[in-house]
Amino acid sequence: MTIGRIISGQSLNEQEETFNVSLRPKLLDECIGQSSVKEKVSIAIEAAKQRSEPLEHILFYGPPGLGKTTLAHVVANEMGARIRCSSGPALAKAGDVMGLLSNINTGDVLFIDEVHRLSTLVEEFIYPAMEDFKVDFTVDSGMHAKTINFPLKRFTLIGATTRAGLLSAPLRSRFGMLYHLDFYSTPELTEILDRSAQLLSLQCEDGTLELIATRSRGTPRVANRLLKRVRDYAQVKGSGVLSTGIVESALKMEQIDRLGLDELDRAFLRALVNVYDGGPAGIEAIAATLGEERDTLEDVVEPYLLQIGFLRRTKRGREVTNQACEHLSLKSHKKKETSGQPDLFKQD
Ligand code: ADP
Repeated sequence: MTIGRIISGQSLNEQEETFNVSLRPKLLDECIGQSSVKEKVSIAIEAAKQRSEPLEHILFYGPPGLGKTTLAHVVANEMGARIRCSSGPALAKAGDVMGLLSNINTGDVLFIDEVHRLSTLVEEFIYPAMEDFKVDFTVDSGMHAKTINFPLKRFTLIGATTRAGLLSAPLRSRFGMLYHLDFYSTPELTEILDRSAQLLSLQCEDGTLELIATRSRGTPRVANRLLKRVRDYAQVKGSGVLSTGIVESALKMEQIDRLGLDELDRAFLRALVNVYDGGPAGIEAIAATLGEERDTLEDVVEPYLLQIGFLRRTKRGREVTNQACEHLSLKSHKKKETSGQPDLFKQD
């Protein structure tokens, strides 16, 4: 069973990507929230500009949809630099990286999404590029193999990852700045939605954007996606204006509850309670029960459930909390501690 998701932080398709790009802030001042990260980035940009030097390499990490790609583009824009984009899985061979690096000019930004998915081989190839702005590229093979030392222009690598923990220590240490992106507050998401609604020329009644914000699980991409669903609903079922009734009906249709949880979140929690007695249960086992990818659960479902205190991660596995059970009106079947051997032959 794979449950289609509206609230996934992950980008879904090309059309959605175009929609995202159109709403993406271009300057630091247009970015809402993440004030501490923005302040540090803005000082680094100012200092680099004053010295007429490229920026140090930056790593943005945090759950999907929080603005890592957006910030990479904003940084390039603020530096007046070109940006080249790729991703860990797309850079399978040293030759793929070479193709990108050989076209890079001084000050350009190279953005690598899902940087934790680079192969060890490619990672090792990138180290000297990041550190000394040169690469050793091997041409031909066997007895004709030659290693060419290739000097590069000074560039800035911006990496993005949902799993900083999976980054190797040598790669992580080569980033001069590492910034964690946090979930956004409801007022911040309301401001993001307000900006998006203006860009989309939407008419909204008071309180409607805040209502969408409370259901967006702290994630701008989710907020914008819900806004799009509500806009469609308002157009077809109403007069096009976003009213509280329209927003509530649209979100109900999408099966998004008052905390922003969708069917996959609820299935995850229900499986923990009903199949694993509330946990602890390993993520592989839960993924198998739900027929979902482990990565999807770890990247998209768990971070928010952990954040709102519905889930605990222990060494022995995932455990559901009482709060989650209360929200879903589920009875927690937490195993009772037994003393000694269970009495299998007890007569009633
Ligand atoms: P990530 O790379 O972390 O998965 P993105 O950078 O693609 O996330 O952000 C998803 C969408 O959320 C963007 O298209 C943009 O419209 C919106 N967004 C992200 N961060 C902000 C922000 N700080 N202010 C306003 N909108 C934002």
